[in-house]
Amino acid sequence: MSEDCIFCKIVNGQIPSKKVFENDTNIAFLDIRPISTGHTVVIPKKHYSTIEKLPDEEVGNLFKAVKRVALLLHEKLEIDGYNIVQNNYKAAGQVVEHSHVHIIPRNKGDRKIELNVPKEGASEEQLDQVLEKIMA
Ligand code: 5GP
Ligand code: ZN
Repeated sequence: MSEDCIFCKIVNGQIPSKKVFENDTNIAFLDIRPISTGHTVVIPKKHYSTIEKLPDEEVGNLFKAVKRVALLLHEKLEIDGYNIVQNNYKAAGQVVEHSHVHIIPRNKGDRKIELNVPKEGASEEQLDQVLEKIMA
């Protein structure tokens, strides 16, 4: 529990939320500023700032909950698909520093999230350079 964390306050009921799923370790609730109808956030009940801080067993619990909620949204809402998004650190758009996973319902042609994929791929050499760095 972190004192001024909005998601910790949701977990302990200090701030109301529209919960769609709860078990011993995780909860999921509707995002108050949804990208699309049914946009849901899945979180661990315990406070960890980023995915790097999650103990391994919590990662398992979190992604089991994500799968449950994804199935639920897919079954109950009329959607064609969904994106699963997990932001880490400010540079990647993380605002709430309580690790969480977004499930964002999608419909054909809705243009809600567009990945900026460059037209040209990386050269073999560039890929080798980065691989070397990662594996060193
Ligand atoms: P982030 O940008 O950190 O990955 O996403 C945080 C998400 O939490 C945002 O989509 C934001 O709309 C949502 N959010 C922030 N505060 C609250 C709140 O008090 N209640 C709910 N339900 N969602 C919140
Ligand atoms: Zn928290």
